[in-house]
Amino acid sequence: MSETIFSKIIRKEIPAKVVYEDDQCLAFYDVAPQAPVHVLVIPKKPIESLEQLTAEDAPLMGHLWQVIQRVARQERVAESGYRVVVNCGHQGGQSVDHLHFHILGGRDLAWPPG
Ligand code: AMP
Repeated sequence: MSETIFSKIIRKEIPAKVVYEDDQCLAFYDVAPQAPVHVLVIPKKPIESLEQLTAEDAPLMGHLWQVIQRVARQERVAESGYRVVVNCGHQGGQSVDHLHFHILGGRDLAWPPG
């Protein structure tokens, strides 16, 4: 997997507004927020996209969903509601090739997405 901006954020080589971190993952505010709350949750393991996940990543993914729930509560959108998005590949709108979960909330979100 090639180097991405998220690898640099994990290594603290470039700054990010981190809201949660542990040995397996990092959560930080998106630099171009699409909603009042827009946090990215990423595994520290360099996984390029959802398509690269394997069975051995199942415990890591279970952990990430728990972190997503924790961050949503921390950001006070758990009660009002929020959306979790994973863009995968070119037509899916993925622009950074390091698996990431968008947490979006704080306003009414339209459906379907564009
Ligand atoms: P995606 O289009 O699903 O690949 O999402 C990538 C996201 O990363 C976009 O929402 C960008 O705004 C966000 N992003 C890119 N660079 C940074 C950065 N340095 N810090 C925080 N978020 C970033």
